[in-house]
Amino acid sequence: MSDNRVWSYSAVLMGSPILLKLFSHDEALASRVFSLIKQYEDLFTVNRADSQVMDINHAAGRHPVVVSRPVYELIKCAKAASQLPESAFNLAIGPLVKLWRIGFKGDSVPAADEIAARLRITRPQDVILDDAAASVFLAQPGMEIDLGAIAKGFIADRVRDYLHQQGVSDGLINLGGNVQTLGSPQGGWSIGVKKPFAAADALVGSIEVVNKSVVTSGTYERYFEQDGKLWHHILDPRSGYPLNNELDSVTVISTDSLDGDIWTTLLFGLGVEKGCALLRQRQDIEAIFVSKNREITLSSRRQFRFTPLDASYRLTDCTA
Ligand code: FAD
Ligand code: MG
Repeated sequence: MSDNRVWSYSAVLMGSPILLKLFSHDEALASRVFSLIKQYEDLFTVNRADSQVMDINHAAGRHPVVVSRPVYELIKCAKAASQLPESAFNLAIGPLVKLWRIGFKGDSVPAADEIAARLRITRPQDVILDDAAASVFLAQPGMEIDLGAIAKGFIADRVRDYLHQQGVSDGLINLGGNVQTLGSPQGGWSIGVKKPFAAADALVGSIEVVNKSVVTSGTYERYFEQDGKLWHHILDPRSGYPLNNELDSVTVISTDSLDGDIWTTLLFGLGVEKGCALLRQRQDIEAIFVSKNREITLSSRRQFRFTPLDASYRLTDCTA
């Protein structure tokens, strides 16, 4: 399909709508990009019985598993993110994700004692890594790694690198929540920030970036309702329940989508005040917080421009 000079190619991979935008008509390139994504999906998925991550999970409590370099490096990175101070990110959250089943058939609020039991097998320090062998060992039986909060970021960066190698200077890949951009067509890429719990095309604002990743994590994409409450898919590794604070969504602007994916979860866990305090020390990471009380909080804006599009939201910034 063409829209002016932009050619859009779509697919469904990783249970998500995937969109590739190019400035030339190149079906063959698009299909190579989709197969690259599929190859990584096949390594990382926990939604099928067979993948390298599932091999590690199946061997939990029994023996280490040697994996390919990308799987090892991504797990190492996810473990480091899980061990940051006050981190809401936890790569060993798998047993709880499987228990809640949020976004999949059969989701319901589990019994409190089941949540407590599974919390005991989600300790990041029980993911034992061996750099020399590139092996991963889950020290407790029943443990499961879940890379759902980081793998799309990693893959978006690999697509960017591949497009660069292929000589593409301007383009965009959207993996469903993870956008990575190349170049600056017409002065920059414009990316919408969705309005939570509204029509699919409703936006609270739009972001303009050049050569940046834009990642959003929100409570409104995957959730179910029970007992008059909304239960969404970003779990608090301390309680085992969905993270519950003032936020509806966090969008992170960074160079690498891998960082964006990690930071959306970190910032979601910290909330606006602590999140802003941390961002003031990190010039490389920027964020947009969308709160339940209809407030949009922006970080320094050195790496992006923001245009508000919904007058019912109040704009404020991290230094306020
Ligand atoms: P993020 O906020 O970045 O991550 C949330 C996801 O991370 C949760 O869904 C959970 O998987 C995990 N998680 C929850 N809490 C935490 C925490 N505290 N710390 C760390 N991780 C946490 N969806 C389908 O419906 N069908 C599929 O077949 C399917 N296959 C997939 C295969 C791959 C390789 C990947 C990466 C994703 C796949 N998904 C699939 C989507 C997946 O289930 C998640 O919904 C998706 O990755 C969430 O991404 P996000 O950016 O929306 O959320
Ligand atoms: Mg994430």
